[in-house]
Amino acid sequence: MSKGFVYLVGAGPGRADLITVRGAEVLKEADCVIYDKLANPALLEFAGKNAEIIHVPKRIGKGSATQEQINKLLVEKASGGKTVVRLKGGDPCIFGRVAEELAVLAEAGIDFEIVPGITAGIAVSAYTGIMLTDREFSSQVVFITGREAEGKEGTNIDWELLARFPGTVVFYMGVGNLDSIAGRLIENGMDKDTPAAVIANVTFPAQKIVKASLERISEECKQKGIEPPAIIVIGAAADSGAMLDWFSRKPLFGKNIVVTRDVVGNTNFAAKIISRSGNPLEFATIRILPLTQKNEFVRTLAKINQYDWIIFTSGNGVTIFFDAMEGLEKDARVFCSAKIAAIGSRTAAKLDEFGIKADFVPSVFTSEQLGKQLLGFSNLKNKKILLLRSELASNELVELLADAGAEVDNVSVYTTEEEKGESSWLAGRLDEGTIDWLTFTSPSSVDGFFNQISCDLVNKSNVKVASIGPVTAERLKELGVAVNVTATEHTVDGLLDAIEESERKKS
Ligand code: SAH
Repeated sequence: MSKGFVYLVGAGPGRADLITVRGAEVLKEADCVIYDKLANPALLEFAGKNAEIIHVPKRIGKGSATQEQINKLLVEKASGGKTVVRLKGGDPCIFGRVAEELAVLAEAGIDFEIVPGITAGIAVSAYTGIMLTDREFSSQVVFITGREAEGKEGTNIDWELLARFPGTVVFYMGVGNLDSIAGRLIENGMDKDTPAAVIANVTFPAQKIVKASLERISEECKQKGIEPPAIIVIGAAADSGAMLDWFSRKPLFGKNIVVTRDVVGNTNFAAKIISRSGNPLEFATIRILPLTQKNEFVRTLAKINQYDWIIFTSGNGVTIFFDAMEGLEKDARVFCSAKIAAIGSRTAAKLDEFGIKADFVPSVFTSEQLGKQLLGFSNLKNKKILLLRSELASNELVELLADAGAEVDNVSVYTTEEEKGESSWLAGRLDEGTIDWLTFTSPSSVDGFFNQISCDLVNKSNVKVASIGPVTAERLKELGVAVNVTATEHTVDGLLDAIEESERKKS
C-alpha cells in the first residue's frame, strides 16, 4: 500500500477565518484530521463530510505520554495510505513540539508539508493594538515559554538577560506561573513598574486584556479571573495601543447572542455574528422539511412553464426548490419565460447563486409589501402566478394578488417542525443573566423557542429581544414577550444592524 502524507497545519490564533488559504485548502483534502485543544473546532467545517476527525487535547503534566500517543497516531494513519492533517493552534513551529512529530514521520519514511499559521503572540498586536515592535520603544521582541518558570533544572531561560532586555518580552503558557515570572524578572533587576499586559483568548469574542505594572499584574489577573490560554507582554509596548484597539470597540464585541433558527440557518447566522466580534450561541428551535416529494409540488413542476410570475419568499424556499431540481437533473431553465420575484435581498442573493436575477424585489421585505409593490410594478390581471413558499406562510399575499385579478397557485415547498434539544443550559444562562440578546427570524422559531423556554424566564432576565420584522415581532407580543428592537431591513444582516445600533446608543 502506498504511504500517506501528513500536513502539519497552523490553525491560526483562534478565530476560524484567520487560518491561511493554504491551510483551508489542505483541510479539504484530508482523510483524517487530528486537532488539538487550541485549534478552533469551527475549522473542521472545511474538512470533507467523510473525513475522520480525532481530537487530541493535551493536558499539563501528562504532556509527554500524550505526545507519544499523538506521534503514534500520525504514523499509524499515514502508513495506512491516508492524507492526514495535523491541525495545531497558532503556528505549528512556535512552541508546538513539531520537531518531535516530524522526527517520527521522517523515521517512518512518511512525507510531510508544514503550513505556517499566525501565532497567538503576533495576533495580539493586531487584535489589541499593543504593538510588539515600535520604532520609538521596541526594536526587538523575544518569545519565551512560561512553563520553564517553575525552576526546571537545566532551564534555557536566562532571567538576568531578560530582566535587562531593551524591547518587548512575550511569554506563552505563563498565566499559571505569572507570580513566579514577574518575581524572577524583578529579582533579576527589572523595574517593578515596567508595564505588563495579559491578553486571554486573543481574537475570540471572549478576549480579555488586563494591564498593570509588573509588580501588580499577577494580582490583577487573579482578581479578573484570567485563565489560559493567554499571552503575557512585558515592556513599554504593554502600555501602548489603547487607541488602536478596533476589536473590542466593535458594538457586538463580547455580546452573547442566541440564534434560534434551524441548524443550518443558525450556522450561517453565527458566522455573521462572529465576523462582527459577537459570541453566537446556537439553539435550534425548528427543523426544515422539504415537501418537494409531494404530489402537489410534482404536479406543479409538470406545468411550471405556464406561469407568468414565480415568487419566492425565503432563501430556504429557493434552496429547497433547487435541491429538488438537482435530484431531477433539471436546472433554472424550467422557469422558461416566467418572471421571478423575491421577497428581499437575501432571497434574491440565493436565486443569484443558481444563476437567476430576480425581476422584482420590493423595497420593504415583507409579504404585504411584496404583494402591494408587485401590483404597482406590473398589471397582474389574469396573470398566472406561482408562490413557492413555506406551508406555514400566511394567506395575506395570496389574497392581495387574487383580489387584483391574478390566478394564484400557492404551493408549499417546505414546512417546519419544532426541534427539541437540550434547553437547560440556556435556561440556566438566562437565569444567571449572562445572555445579552435573543434573536428571532420567524414566527415558527418563536413558537419553537417558547415551547422550550418559559416567557416568564425571558421577561424576568435582563436579556434583550430582537426581531427580524413586524410579523415575527407580532408573534412575540402575542406571547407576552417584550420586543426591544425590530429590524428595519428584514434580513439577518438587518437584524444585526439593529442590535448594533441599540448597543451604540447604550454606550
Ligand atoms: N503554537 C501556538 C502556541 C502553543 S503553546 C501558537 O503559535 O500560538 C500554547 C500557548 O499559546 C498558550 O498557553 C497561550 O500562551 C498561547 N495561546 C494560544 N492561543 C491563544 C489565544 N487564542 N489567546 C491567548 N493565548 C493563546
